[in-house]
Amino acid sequence: MRKHFNRRAFIKNSSLGAMATPFLFHNKEDNDEQKSGIPVKMSYKTLGRTGFQVSDIAIGAPPSEAVLKAALKSGMNYIDTAEQYGNGNNEKLIGKVIKDFDRKKIFISTKIYEEGKYKSQQDVVERVRKAVERLQSDYVDCVMLHSAENTRILKDEAFHGAMDQLKAEGKVKYVGVSCHGSTWYLPPEEDLETVLLNAVGDGRFDVFLMTYNFVNQEKAERVLRACAEKKVGTTIMKSNPMITFKAVEGLITKMEEEKGKPVNDTLMAWRDRLQDKSNQAKDYFGKYGIADDEHLVDAAIQFVISNPDAHSVCLPFKNISDIERWIHLSGKTLKKEQASLLDFYRKQFGELNCHFGCRECATACPHNVQVSTIMRYNYYFQNKGQEKYAMEKYAALEGNKADVCRDCPGYCEDACPHGVLARHMLSMAHENLSTDCSLNLL
Ligand code: SF4
Ligand code: SF4
Repeated sequence: MRKHFNRRAFIKNSSLGAMATPFLFHNKEDNDEQKSGIPVKMSYKTLGRTGFQVSDIAIGAPPSEAVLKAALKSGMNYIDTAEQYGNGNNEKLIGKVIKDFDRKKIFISTKIYEEGKYKSQQDVVERVRKAVERLQSDYVDCVMLHSAENTRILKDEAFHGAMDQLKAEGKVKYVGVSCHGSTWYLPPEEDLETVLLNAVGDGRFDVFLMTYNFVNQEKAERVLRACAEKKVGTTIMKSNPMITFKAVEGLITKMEEEKGKPVNDTLMAWRDRLQDKSNQAKDYFGKYGIADDEHLVDAAIQFVISNPDAHSVCLPFKNISDIERWIHLSGKTLKKEQASLLDFYRKQFGELNCHFGCRECATACPHNVQVSTIMRYNYYFQNKGQEKYAMEKYAALEGNKADVCRDCPGYCEDACPHGVLARHMLSMAHENLSTDCSLNLL
């Protein structure tokens, strides 16, 4: 096994202001590995107190048997799934594939969700037993409390009672939690950092699945440091920014289409501003030989892999090409030129990226709009290509939708310490996620 991550090197390379020089983003070794189709050697990290050696790249909700097989053959050995994914069908797919592999070398994490409070210990026990059956295994490595929205649910005795029982039976090895932050209209009002630091303090959670990326750094890094101190294993989701360069171009095009309609000065001013930034991005790309968004996404993933406290990053492989593309990032650290690209992106387009799990503008909104949750659904729509899923989630969202943002002066933007253009972005999210409106920001 290869790997040795150095915290000092990570901080040095990921710090703001790293100097850019003309470069090729992948070195010759990387290119040769990719051309040959031979997988590079996978690197592994210790998943906290579980002691399990997990690949630094994980398989998030495998989309097909072929993709999962290829990922496992390449050396990836952490699989993230959930009872909710395909209503148990994702677990079934995993069960079919892992029969042909050494089960002991694979770490499977599944999740069960219950809003507010789990029904009963027996209900949780039955659901996990069914998950284990679907996985065609004798046990599941980790069961996570899915999408913990507040610290209250971390203490849910039905869930913990079931975990104790299932661990005693040998059906479950470890307990975990995943978190996107709070649902705003339901008290208590707690963000991702509050929930997860409490989960560290609780002591019963061995593994976290949490959001972390280069735009949304500080809070997640405080959680990661606390996890390192208490030997909690960490797996990362949403390592990419919400809006890629290509998405910015798409946004500008959409705004152009509004031109003939009754004049919307705010929209046009925003379009001009984005066009300027986009032109600067093209100049930057030209100067440094960057062809497309792939460099940004790769750098974003590399940023997470480079952090020694982030043990495995779950990637949404859609096909085998995605595996071939990303596997070369395993075991590598962020290069200076990649850090420069991320810094450039942050400065140019940070205002388009709401922070996952954040709720700092919550009290400013008179309509209790769930800003970061709606932005997350739009991320599923725009970045992950999960349009149908994102629209269903949005349709099912309780409380006000982002259509109310059109007639609002944007109190959330004034309250946002990160300078996010939330009103505009929410209007765009509503445009994407619903079927009943056009982009009309005033
Ligand atoms: S734009 Fe207005 S209505 Fe929409 S989230 Fe912000 S404050 Fe709330
Ligand atoms: S708009 Fe700003 S304050 Fe509001 S959730 Fe997003 S990042 Fe947080």
